Order: sequence, then C-alpha cells, then structure tokens
Amino acid sequence: MFLNNLSRGYFVGKDPNAPPFYREEGNKKFQKKDYVGATVLYSKGISHSRPHTVDISLCYANRSAALFYLDQYEMCLKDITRAQMHGYPERLQPKVMLRKTECLVTLGRLQEAGQTIRDLESNFAAKPTLAAAQFQILQRNLCRLKRKVQEKGNLTETYTTTVTKTFEDMDLREENEQISSASSSVSLCIDPLKGRYLIATKDILPGELLVKEDAFVSVLNPGEMPPGLHHGLENKWDTRITNGDLYCHRCLKHTLATVPCDGCSYAKYCSNECMQQAWDLYHQIECSLGGLLLTLGIFCHIALRSTLLARFEDASKVIRKLYSEISNKDMCSPESENLVQILNYDLGEEGERHGKTVKIPVPGCDINGKYENNYNAVFNLLAHTENHSPEYKFLCALSVSALCRQLEAADSKKPETAAPPALYSELNIWGVAMLKHMLQLQCNAQAITTIQETALSGSKENNVCNSRQIRLATGIFPVVSLLNHSCSPNTSVSFSSTVATIRASQQIGKGQEILHCYGPHYSRMGVADRQQKLRSQYFFDCGCPACQKEKHRAVARPRWEAFCCNQCGALLQGGDILSCGSMSCTESVSRDHLTSQLQDLQQQVGIAQELLRSGKLEQAVQLLLECRHDAESFLSAEHSMVGEIEDSLAQTYAALGDWQKSATHLQKSLRVVEVRHGPSSVEVGHELFKLAQLFFNGFAIPEALNTVERAEKVLMVHYGPCNDEIQELQKMKSCLLNSPPIPLGPSL
Ligand SMILES: [Zn+2]
Ligand SMILES: [Zn+2]
Ligand SMILES: [Zn+2]
Ligand SMILES: [Zn+2]
Repeated sequence: MFLNNLSRGYFVGKDPNAPPFYREEGNKKFQKKDYVGATVLYSKGISHSRPHTVDISLCYANRSAALFYLDQYEMCLKDITRAQMHGYPERLQPKVMLRKTECLVTLGRLQEAGQTIRDLESNFAAKPTLAAAQFQILQRNLCRLKRKVQEKGNLTETYTTTVTKTFEDMDLREENEQISSASSSVSLCIDPLKGRYLIATKDILPGELLVKEDAFVSVLNPGEMPPGLHHGLENKWDTRITNGDLYCHRCLKHTLATVPCDGCSYAKYCSNECMQQAWDLYHQIECSLGGLLLTLGIFCHIALRSTLLARFEDASKVIRKLYSEISNKDMCSPESENLVQILNYDLGEEGERHGKTVKIPVPGCDINGKYENNYNAVFNLLAHTENHSPEYKFLCALSVSALCRQLEAADSKKPETAAPPALYSELNIWGVAMLKHMLQLQCNAQAITTIQETALSGSKENNVCNSRQIRLATGIFPVVSLLNHSCSPNTSVSFSSTVATIRASQQIGKGQEILHCYGPHYSRMGVADRQQKLRSQYFFDCGCPACQKEKHRAVARPRWEAFCCNQCGALLQGGDILSCGSMSCTESVSRDHLTSQLQDLQQQVGIAQELLRSGKLEQAVQLLLECRHDAESFLSAEHSMVGEIEDSLAQTYAALGDWQKSATHLQKSLRVVEVRHGPSSVEVGHELFKLAQLFFNGFAIPEALNTVERAEKVLMVHYGPCNDEIQELQKMKSCLLNSPPIPLGPSL
C-alpha cells in the first residue's frame, strides 16, 4: 500500500500540456483579501508553467498587478522584471510599463520613473500597434504620470521614502565558550541517567535570552492549509492554498510573491538568492525527487537534507564513524577518546561536590570540548534504536532504501553533472546515515511554529487580528535538543525565520536545570495523557514537578473542564456520577449526560463561528448569546468552552465595530485563559494584545495604555524586543501618548 504511492508524481516537473491556469482579468475592483488570494493563485500558476513562455510571463504580470493593489511596490517591480525576462508579449507592454512607472513614482525613484516614461514613448513612436481608444487611454495616463513626477520632483527636498525601521535583532549578550548559540549563563552537563542537559551558571531573570540557534536543517511542512484564506476563494477557483505557497522553502519567511524553482513545481522561494542557496546546498539533488519526498514524508526529507548538508563539513570523518558503527565496533573509537571532557561540577551550594571534577565524554563535542551547531552534533543525537518498534524501524528502512534507489537512478541519468561524488560513490554509507536520522527525528525533531494572523472577518476595516499558532516547518536544532522536558517548563521558545530563540519564562536560580516543553504542557493536557504521550514518543517517564504533584495528590479535574450545578451553580464533584459540592443541595447527574450536553453545545458554537466567518454577524451574535446562556447552566465560569464563546462574541462585536462590547467579552475570555495558562503565559500575552487593539480602536485611552503595558510586559518575556507584536504595541503606545486629549468637559 505504501509503495504503491511511490509512483505518485504529479508534483514533479512542469506539465507542458497543462491548461493555462490564469485568465487575464480586467481591472475589476476586488477587496484586499481577494488580492492576497490572487497573488497566491498566480504564484501557483507560475510554479506550474514552464520558464520562458507566455504563460509564465502573464502570471508574473498579473501577480504584479495584485501586488500593486496591495501596496507592495518593491515586489511589484520585481515581478514586472520577471515578466519581461520570460518574454512578456509586446502588445501588452504599455500596461506593465505604466504600472512600473506608478511604483517608481510612489517609491520616490523619480529618475527611473522619468526614464520609463521616455522608453514607453519612444517604443510607441517606433511601433504604433495600439487601437485608437487604447492609445488615448495610454496618452492620458502618461500625462498624469508626468505631472506626478514633476510634482514629486518639486518636493524632493522634503520627500523621504517611508522606510520601515528594521530593528537590529538582539543577540546573545555573551556567547558561551563551550556551546555555540547559547548564552554564557548556561553550562552543559552530562549524567548517566539524564544524558546531556543544561544548567544555569548564575541567577537568570525572566525574559533573558538563553539560546539563539539557526536550524542545522529545516524542511517546510507542505500540507497545511492556512485558515481564512481558502474561504470564499474555493468557490471561484478550485485550488488549495498551503504553507508551501506562502512561505519561502529555504528561509521560511512569509512572502506573497514566490519565485519557483525552474525544474519543479513544489519548491518556491522568497528571492533568487534563497533559490540559489537552496540549489547549491541541497535542491539540485532534491529537485527531481519532489514527488517521492512528499510521499515518504517530512522525516525522510529531513534525513536526506541533513546528509546533503553534511557533505559541506568534514564528510570523511563522518564516513569513518559510520563504518565503525556498521561493523558494530564500539562507538568509542580511538578518535572519540579525544572527546573526553573535563566537566566542572561547581554547583556552589553543594559543599561536598564543590570544585570536584568528573571526567565524562560528552558526545557531540569536538576535540576541544566545544559543542556546536554542526553535523557532528546532529550525528550524536540519540536515535533510541532499541526503543522503536520493529514496524517503525522497518518502515524507516524501506523509505530510505526507496530514496537511495531513486538517487541512484537520478545519478545514472546524468553522470556528467556536477553532482557531488561524495554522495553517490558512498551511497550505502549515506543511506545508513539517513536511517539513523530517521530514527533520531522522533525524539529530536523540533516543530518550527509561527503566529499566523487572520483578520477578524466581516468587518469593513480589518483592524483586529486573531492570531493562531501554526506548525510551519520541522527542523533539527542540536543545541535546543540539549534541553530536557518539563510539563511546566521554565523557558519559552519562539521562532523567526529558521532561528529558534529560547528565553527564561521565569526566574531560574543558579544550578537549576534549564527545561523546555516538548509539547505536552500541563495546562493543555491531563497528567495521564501527558505521561502516555511522552512515553510513546520520547521513551521516558516524566517526573517533573507538575506530574508528581498531579499523580500523588490525585488533583481534581482542572477548572477549565469543570461542570457546575444546574440548581445552585456550585461545582459538581465525583467520577461517573457527579454530585453538587454544596451541602444544602442534593443535585446529582451522570457525567455521560453532561458530556453529551457539552458536545451539543460545541456543535452550536461551531455553527455560530461559521456564521461569523461568512459575515452573517447578527445571526452569529444571536446564536452565541443562546450558547452562552446554555453554557451558564452547566459549565463553570472558567470552562474553556465559556472562554471560546466569549472570544467568538468579542470577534463578532469587533466585526460590527462595537469596540466596547467586544472588549467586555474579550475580558471574560481573558479570565478563562488566565486560569488555564497562568497570568504570565504567552497565551495571556496574545489575549492582552487583542484587548489592547480593541481599546485602542474604541479610543478608550487609559484602558488601552494600561493593557498595552500589560501585554508588552508579558510578551517581552517570551519573545524579546524584536517581535512584531511588541513593536506594534510600542507604536500603539506612542500614538496614545501623543494623541491630543479628548475634551471631556470644561476643566480637568
Ligand atoms: Zn527565502
Ligand atoms: Zn526544483
Ligand atoms: Zn511532566
Ligand atoms: Zn447544587
């Protein structure tokens, strides 16, 4: 069954017989979100057209128009150049030349604008191909643009192009001498039971940057469809929009105007630079394997790419190591004795261990004991070979052998290419390496997430955004992998492009271990589920404080899952039959009954949210208010469903422009989030950010200022100063502080 899919190759190569994808649209008036959709669809058209054809040039030209309407002038100019490069038809030239001039004028590049106008005029004088009516339109536009250039030229002294201020990304204050990409506030330790881990070498404050690491390897998750975008578009064009259409396949930056690989239709980039880099590093080999890689899955793709990247390091060393591993020799070959490192257990408080040195080899370090973000470190991540099921191992081996066969076939097809010989001549060895990476990935793959903002639907001015975390890519970060798991971690991780950043989310005392959460967080999952998940995926029994507390004290179900009494409102307690916690009340009810009631409610809320999405706001409000009434009769005030209803109400009122009502409901939702995730959690930060926007839009200045400051405080700890939301908050603050006071009365 698995192998049958291998022939699925519709992603590979350009189909010369594919019907043209686009239609040359007239200048219809679209909404902004239609233009966003249009850029994505033209991008799809571009990636499915062959280079240097009229098809591809028209797609670029059309996308440039959409970008123009989205005020993305720089990107628009690039697309016009691309259209012309691929042979844009002569008769349509005036159209894009005019657009180009508009962009240049808007960007203040007046000399170039003037030159373009002159080119256009001389073109015309040479070959008057246009119909009279079109010619008149062109003449009118030219006159208008010339006037614009002149007007702007007079203002040149004062005119400055708006440059978005790019903040220098904050760097590690002092880089660790032992571990690259880590701060000097942490130190690498090793323990026979725990393996490698990081501890604090000094007291660490919340928000301190501890690790900032670029992924050794990362692969964009191809499949997920971002929410919001497909709504409405589906009806017009039957096309799916996925992450692969919106983010650069190399640097993972969000981009509306992707540049596709010339050889395949699935790799798309933010720029020619990224395309070239990806090609040199790995894509020249991956290009023909697109369909197979998509079938085999992302782990297989990462395994291949890791070995491709390894070729740029000391590959012979790795090959020797692999040989010794295959021949089942001891991993401590003479060479790796150099890896023995003196570790200083200077923990300060523990008197008897003070200054004691223990000699333990630290895998992944180099001869000098330095741990770096390189292939050696990746190679030494634990594969847990003994823990994986035989079925899983078989599947991994099968995938890798399929990949190797395809690589061989590709090699024999084009022997004269510059494909690095190190890969093909030692294919058996690299196959073993890939298998090892496949096995490592289950425990060491790091999901690269991003916050995706979707504008609240329905409103005319989409000023309020709803943010949602999405899984963008999967990567390997050897330094981040050194951190152990806790269900209540003391750090918080965030991503920008392919860089992971780990910050202390609370105070960490000297000597304490630095911990992050592998996924099962205590505020999102019960202890039994967490333990099960960690055991099956990561092969360990979690003994973190949260787990111990919950296991030993048989904690009651959390408040965000609690039911309350229909009669008196007190919390219900018990197992299968729940009874009222109030002494004076005799109400009791079965859990099954309540659970099915909750499911019904969930369904109604879903319907209401669909109404909201399709812009039927009054109906949505009506249904949501009914849902809330229903919820109050059997759910605790902090139940997560109550929070969801309040949040949806807030969204609907925001879409209706009633900021005050929206803020009232959002505050209720915020309380639920606070109970569940804690007042300084990143989840609360996002809610506060939304609330600040609502107060801001409603001109509630003191409330807005207060909320901006709270949001800033919380988000700063998790994300640091360069984060988009933080910068947005700072802009809001300066705007609020500079805004003239609203006259409230005669004197104040
Ligand atoms: Zn890029
Ligand atoms: Zn390609
Ligand atoms: Zn735990
Ligand atoms: Zn009761």
